[in-house]
Amino acid sequence: MRNLHSATKVEGRMSNAPSKVSRCRIPLRGSLLLTLVVTALAGCQKAPRDVAPSAPPPIDEARIAAAESNSEWLSYGRTYSEQRYSPLKSINTDNVTQLGLAWYAEFQADRGMEGTPLIADGVLYDTTSWSHVYALDARTGAIKWHYNPKVDGQKGKDACCDVVNRGVALWKDKVYVGALDGRLIAIEAATGKEVWSQQTTDPSWPYTITGAPRVVKGKVLIGNGGAEFGVRGYISAYDAETGKLAWRFYATPNPDGKPDGAASDKVFAEKAAATWSGSGWKKTGGGGTPWDAIVYDPQTDLVYVGMGNGSPWSHVARSDGKGDNLFLSSIVALRAETGEYVWHYQVNPGESWDYTATQPIMTADLTINGAKRHVVMQAPKNGFFYVLDAVDGKLLSAEKFVPVNWAERIDLATGRPVENPAARYPNGQRATVYPGAAGAHSWTPMSFDPVAGLVFIPAMVTSQNYQHDPNWIFIKGSWNLAQDGSSSGAPRIAPARNPSPLAPPNPPPTVNGLSMKAGQLIAWDPVKQEARWKHTQDSTFAGTLATAGGLVFSASGRDLSAYASKEGTKLWSHRTAAVIIAPPITYELDGEQYVAVNVGFGSVAAMTRGAYPRRPGRLYVYKLGGTATAPEFAPSFPRPPIDVASATASVGNVVRGGQRFYKYCVYCHVGGVYTPDLRTSPYIMTPDSFKSVVHEGALRARGMANFSELLSESDVEDIRAYLLQEAGK
Ligand code: CA
Repeated sequence: MRNLHSATKVEGRMSNAPSKVSRCRIPLRGSLLLTLVVTALAGCQKAPRDVAPSAPPPIDEARIAAAESNSEWLSYGRTYSEQRYSPLKSINTDNVTQLGLAWYAEFQADRGMEGTPLIADGVLYDTTSWSHVYALDARTGAIKWHYNPKVDGQKGKDACCDVVNRGVALWKDKVYVGALDGRLIAIEAATGKEVWSQQTTDPSWPYTITGAPRVVKGKVLIGNGGAEFGVRGYISAYDAETGKLAWRFYATPNPDGKPDGAASDKVFAEKAAATWSGSGWKKTGGGGTPWDAIVYDPQTDLVYVGMGNGSPWSHVARSDGKGDNLFLSSIVALRAETGEYVWHYQVNPGESWDYTATQPIMTADLTINGAKRHVVMQAPKNGFFYVLDAVDGKLLSAEKFVPVNWAERIDLATGRPVENPAARYPNGQRATVYPGAAGAHSWTPMSFDPVAGLVFIPAMVTSQNYQHDPNWIFIKGSWNLAQDGSSSGAPRIAPARNPSPLAPPNPPPTVNGLSMKAGQLIAWDPVKQEARWKHTQDSTFAGTLATAGGLVFSASGRDLSAYASKEGTKLWSHRTAAVIIAPPITYELDGEQYVAVNVGFGSVAAMTRGAYPRRPGRLYVYKLGGTATAPEFAPSFPRPPIDVASATASVGNVVRGGQRFYKYCVYCHVGGVYTPDLRTSPYIMTPDSFKSVVHEGALRARGMANFSELLSESDVEDIRAYLLQEAGK
């Protein structure tokens, strides 16, 4: 097939891709799914005769459950278990060297590409930055429709980690996407037309949605993000047909002390509210935002939700340093129908490091000590790999998968960490803690090969300096971490200035105190709780995919690669035009197996590390013998320095400007192209041009927010004075 570098030009042209997914083709494999398969088969037998034999069954619970043993990719983690393991093996260790590009598509999006494409009935559903949704012919890449939710560029300010989106959910005749601005939107799968839209968050607070919805029992489940700024996290369930709110479960107590009328009221009244002290959390909402993992398990009929970090980060500022602060940093198990609390496991009681438990969760069956156990597995930011009993949440095991110094171990009797007291940066002390806020593992999905018995973790070695900020004052809509001098003007992520009370093991190079160096692809044995093999990756790397072909796919830098699952030998690699962070997927059509991956750098790293230009996001799709090519992007060059001498001199206060810069600007504008280094910005040449952007929103459509609610005109000119000084250096 030809490459589709003109794909965007065919937008709006409706293709009539034939559907080849045959009804009732549900291979019997494994006993676990027998009940569901029998149910599905029963449904087939009852199919009315006037339904064409090629008409696919609706995407519902039975079809998603049946996908455990077939080649479909209908939900974010492929199936309800979210193992990202495909039984497809046409592409395998013997022939993967013949893998070549089948086609590629290019999107109208120039920020991070984090999405997991879904495949149903010959159509591939993908998302890009700013929550756009695309439907493509999965055989050719022809774009069937493109849905733009028209998110206001002002929301870019509220996205800690880029204006990304990780994917859609499918249910019956609709596609569901969570938009960055907090809307949950139902789209007609056939046409791309909006069916309903619900604002799931209070727009006056800096909530965002970047994660994929999941649909369970006719309800669309969606969480939110924003804990770095200060919001109160929760997960909601909406009726898939009507968009009506079905239930909501909060991660933190109501600051008013009143019931919410929500599913979480009972457990907060009984035990969770008592784990909070002080008043800091009452200003921010406490955080706990569930921005990624939402996993339904048909076997236990529970939904496992990964809750986020505390807001502010400092436990002292948030809760007077007292209490576990439920349900921050917790996996919470809820009844899918009602949102009723069943159990929780908190990975970090009294969270104080941005250690979320939002990282991808999967369910699996493991044989532990000779007994078959149905488990929940997670590798959260804090660097321990957790195996929990899926029925009651009991901790079965937890071991470090990267260097960790905040805790010695997890006590299996109590389920609680045995912490290093210095890691809590007490008494104003600074502590260098492993992992840092970027985490040992973040949103990039891991995969599990049940045959090899290995989980493939896209991990990283990170560290960070933490220090409580006694001068923290809550400012709604701004960063609220209560860290270091972030309130008074020092860098938010502080460079190491003093010897740390914690001696870090093997310190890697750091950027702004945050190590982004060592990406690691780790093949982890979840039973033995040890690494079988590992590869050091580029500092940029992607999520993983495991297949029955004995392969694990992942990317490092611009290279998509396939490794032998059992030994870790690299068998195949292809260099794309840009850095890949998205997880690969695989699917089969007309007997041909494809591997697909979104290409385009983004996320927090792209915003803070600079060397990555904005380029159109792409989707690369591979097959055996594929011969298509995709052109390189034109080279980009750093912007030349500005001529400070010809700039209009500023009457602003340089010191105050530096403080404002470090409080409001530095997080995105520490240098580079993706979010520009302001020292080289032509907009700082005159007071009016700088004000037009920062105070009037001239570049709002590009995602540069109008900061007039947080900065006065004189603040803006002070920042310009500081930037001119820095540009002169
Ligand atoms: Ca966070």
